[in-house]
Amino acid sequence: MSTEAPLYRHQVLFLSQSFFIKDNRAELLLHAHKYDFDIRFFSEVAEFTAAVGADRGGSLFVIDLDALHNMQADLQDSRKTLMLGELLERLPRGHEYVYLQSSRQGSRFLLQQRLVDSNCLAYAEKPIANDVLVDKLFNLFVRTGRGDLVSLVHLGQPDSLDAAALGEQRVEVVHHPDAATLHLRVKALQPDLVVIPDDEYRRQEALARVMKKNIEADPVREIVLLQRRPDDALARRALEDGFDAILQDSGDGMVEVQLARRAAKIRVSKDLIGKDRATGLLNKVGLQRKTQDLIRQATQQEKPLAFGVIDIDKFKTINDSWGHHFGDIVIKRLCLCLAPQMGERDLLSRFGGEEFVVVFWDCTLDAAWRRLDALRQAFGAIEFQVARGDLRRFSFSGGLAAFPEHRSENELFLRADAMLYTAKETGRNRICPDVSTQSP
Ligand code: GH3
Ligand code: MG
Ligand code: MG
Repeated sequence: MSTEAPLYRHQVLFLSQSFFIKDNRAELLLHAHKYDFDIRFFSEVAEFTAAVGADRGGSLFVIDLDALHNMQADLQDSRKTLMLGELLERLPRGHEYVYLQSSRQGSRFLLQQRLVDSNCLAYAEKPIANDVLVDKLFNLFVRTGRGDLVSLVHLGQPDSLDAAALGEQRVEVVHHPDAATLHLRVKALQPDLVVIPDDEYRRQEALARVMKKNIEADPVREIVLLQRRPDDALARRALEDGFDAILQDSGDGMVEVQLARRAAKIRVSKDLIGKDRATGLLNKVGLQRKTQDLIRQATQQEKPLAFGVIDIDKFKTINDSWGHHFGDIVIKRLCLCLAPQMGERDLLSRFGGEEFVVVFWDCTLDAAWRRLDALRQAFGAIEFQVARGDLRRFSFSGGLAAFPEHRSENELFLRADAMLYTAKETGRNRICPDVSTQSP
């Protein structure tokens, strides 16, 4: 490959016995690449610990405990624990590890306890299928990653909820002082969490019902009651009204910790539902949600949006000529070519196999054409080595539609897709804007 940027977002350092890996290695890697991570294999503890020590963060460290057998093959059962201790001793501190153990190891509770208390991020039991292991590791990346901001609207004054503590946990807090307009604020911001103190609820008991029954309400959203004074009857009514949780608030920071935990769960489920695993980009579901948000904001702020659909040209031929895995790498490269050029409020989605959608915020159709055409040229300049001395370049076509000329997400998509069709019909490797809506 001619570009140096790493092809995969994440990395796993894997200490394992060579025989476990030998047959598995290629298949494990194939699965891992579909989830946007690469695996470096180690069979020597010293090399593994050096690599862990040199890691710049964001990697997962996996240890197959059968590697212990490798270190001293014919140990008595009683000495294995000691060996485990030795291994754990040698692991660089300040990191967490994923341990792969046999089910026999797992059945011994003391060993198990020892393991989970030894810088253990997670453990898995063998035998484990390659695709299952990769899927579980992916979940850990999602869980341990920085992740997107989770938004919280708090009914009340700034001093009654510690926004700074929540901010450190990537929860963005908006204080809204007025119960009568809370539902409007929630409609405009579409937060993931809504927090209502008990005295506000006492004054206006319809608050949660009004928000919950709005058909546009995000089903993942949680409405939380903060109870400053214990009151069982009130708590019961709140639950009946649609509150998802009641937290006792004694002002000692425990509420913030609990809210941050809930936010982390929401973040993980949104990631798992709304993102494409192979690229980390929004998938169809995530895109739909975010586009609706963006259209709402663009309407309020009277900003134009440009909606683009792009599709790699003659991709079937790429797959057929050099294999599906190579095709995946081309998709990955395209994603890495597009992603850095997106603005903070732009959207980028892997909509389907080799189809992507971009939404440019505050962007006219003309400007969008220039941006997308520049991306087309940049992608077209990437050289892929398909065989020794054989470099190929590929292209994509795109169609563009404009908001507010087309108002709904669906309309924008259909229009841009029709323009993509035109681009394909008229020779490919080009971007066709929806000229019917352009000003004269
Ligand atoms: P066109 O220029 O008209 O777009 O021709 P095309 O061959 O690219 O046609 P089309 O877009 O319809 O073909 C998409 C192909 O991409 C079909 C499918 O086998 C393949 N594909 C879909 N998803 C993936 C994927 O995730 N990886 C790989 N390698 N191939 C995929
Ligand atoms: Mg296609
Ligand atoms: Mg195509």
